[in-house]
Amino acid sequence: MDRRGFVTTGMAATLAGLTGTGSLAGVLHGPSFRRIGKTLPDGTVRLSSNENPLGLSPSARQAVVDAMVDANRYPGGWRGPLVDALAKRLGVKRENLVMGAGSTEVLQMAVQAYQKPGIPMVIAEPTFEDVPRYQRPFSYDLKAIPLVRNRYAHDLDRMREAAGNGPSVVYICNPNNPTGTVTPSRDVDAWIADAPEATVFLVDEAYFEYADSPAYWTALKWIESKPNVVVVRTFSKIFAMAGMRLGYGIAHPDTAKRLTAFISANNTNVLACAAGIASMADDELVGRSVGVNTKSKQIATSTLSDLGLEYIPTHTNFIMHRINGDLQAYIGHMRDKGIHVGRPFPPMTQWNRVSFGLPEEMGRWADALKEMRAVGTI
Ligand code: PMP
Repeated sequence: MDRRGFVTTGMAATLAGLTGTGSLAGVLHGPSFRRIGKTLPDGTVRLSSNENPLGLSPSARQAVVDAMVDANRYPGGWRGPLVDALAKRLGVKRENLVMGAGSTEVLQMAVQAYQKPGIPMVIAEPTFEDVPRYQRPFSYDLKAIPLVRNRYAHDLDRMREAAGNGPSVVYICNPNNPTGTVTPSRDVDAWIADAPEATVFLVDEAYFEYADSPAYWTALKWIESKPNVVVVRTFSKIFAMAGMRLGYGIAHPDTAKRLTAFISANNTNVLACAAGIASMADDELVGRSVGVNTKSKQIATSTLSDLGLEYIPTHTNFIMHRINGDLQAYIGHMRDKGIHVGRPFPPMTQWNRVSFGLPEEMGRWADALKEMRAVGTI
């Protein structure tokens, strides 16, 4: 038997063993490996964590199976090909890249690398919570600036004031989670262009590939001329690899080195590297992900419009909409119908964030909303 045959058969046997009564795999995924990435086998629809419902691309699944023979080895040998492929894709140098176990680890490295007692960390409110969470053990002066009313973009003028001219860390989540909105890149560029070098910009582009606004573009062009800019991206969303944990930062080589001082050794595992390389080689993957997302977005927006529920136009794989009622009760009602929707994002307690699943899953969510409307819950 060849290496691939051995690994495939071995893995099938392992999975078959795991799907027995009481095993985790059995509980979570039932008897079929193919189901992974689709609606959970107990019928639960997961629209809570901005995951890509397509599951790993077929070639990435095969690459993971093939890479299993190396799972007993440290991942060093896999890093080179991964970083080379990524650098080529982005048109940057290897030295510009910092790999993370998800992009969240790169954000964590940056929060640690730039901390100095009492300096401002400036974020939007609401925004993705990992950066404010990572700063907690340090003595940053956290300044949360509300999004611009009605537009839900970052209030860059107020953020700039809060950052001041001394050392500071500014987190710009663009597009923003949980609102799905873009902050005009022209305005971000204008600030970066004349900010003091002591202002460190963490520009989070986790949803970059989904954004379709003419006012939006990447901040990548700054990385060579501005060592105070770190752009962060991920394989979790467009490449459907959230469970594999692979993300990256792109920055000036000196900045990348500074971040790497805070890296967790051997952080990107063999299987994630293999899946990442294969996913980048799948030329149609981005199009497939965007395509299904667009269909699901249409179902969501037309359902919300029909029900007269306000929503914020989105540039991501999720949408924020009004719920007309108590948020925790709403989340509970959806759970009762087997649908996991997003968590609360204070101060937007009259709103819920729903992630886009497969179109048929959005159909179930739409039906649940209509049932709630019929009984006056929303
Ligand atoms: N940034 C943003 C804006 C996110 O929404 C997320 C996850 N939802 C992340 C970073 C972290 O993702 P990961 O660590 O999976 O790359």
